[in-house]
Amino acid sequence: MKHLYHNTFFIDQSELTNDISFTHFSLTKKYPQNNSALLVDFKNNFKFATRCIKKLIQLKNKNINFQTVSNGKNIKYILSHYNQAILDSLIAIEIEAPKEKCIFTYEKFCDELDTVWKKYNPCHFCNNLCAAAKTDKRYSKPDGCCAVAFDLILLKKGIFTKDSFYPCPHLAKTGGCTTQNSACKMFACRYIKKNKLISLKPKQSLMYQCFFNSKQRLILSNNFFKTKEQLIDKLLEIDRTPLLYYSFQFKYLILD
Ligand code: SF4
Ligand code: SF4
Repeated sequence: MKHLYHNTFFIDQSELTNDISFTHFSLTKKYPQNNSALLVDFKNNFKFATRCIKKLIQLKNKNINFQTVSNGKNIKYILSHYNQAILDSLIAIEIEAPKEKCIFTYEKFCDELDTVWKKYNPCHFCNNLCAAAKTDKRYSKPDGCCAVAFDLILLKKGIFTKDSFYPCPHLAKTGGCTTQNSACKMFACRYIKKNKLISLKPKQSLMYQCFFNSKQRLILSNNFFKTKEQLIDKLLEIDRTPLLYYSFQFKYLILD
């Protein structure tokens, strides 16, 4: 039996014994208010897992309960073919306070992006110069920040003026970035894209797919040079503007 969140536990299906009652999970089934622990097979399949997590979010929003008490512990799930991203999503479902939930999902999404950057390591810093800067000085400064590379993209979009973002106020004199910014982590410069040095696919993140709506996704991917706290506040903002206008009017940008 493993701990999930607060007083909620789960077990692996291989640990299931005859005395633990359970309910089968189905994407289409309607459940009564109270049920025994939910047996979910995620099938090691990302698309299916995404649908499962979305359904579990709906069930939680409707206050549909799943629980079997065993050895004094509340088992909510019996799981098979799952991974850490699925467990993180199940934890996120349990978090009720909106700000706490937003911080958790944001941090997990950023961690996933960090893992991708570490895996590909496309910037190949050497003597504080990145791979792109070695061939084109517009891309990066010797301190290793590529804010000037963002500048090129944003200026092209016509969103900002030539007042440069460099140096970014969140860049430490040594040690790099002092905050956690999803937009920066989702950014790859033209050099990296042209040479196909990294594969950043946020749509392959359960957090991104299941816990952020379309407006929040615009916020996540466009607010460079802002702090984690500014991004969290913006993600929690309630704006009833229709998505089209929200996007055309750049309402997703944090302006300070
Ligand atoms: S993203 Fe591009 S510009 Fe930025 S550090 Fe990496 S190689 Fe350099
Ligand atoms: S917020 Fe973005 S641009 Fe600023 S230091 Fe951090 S990663 Fe670099």
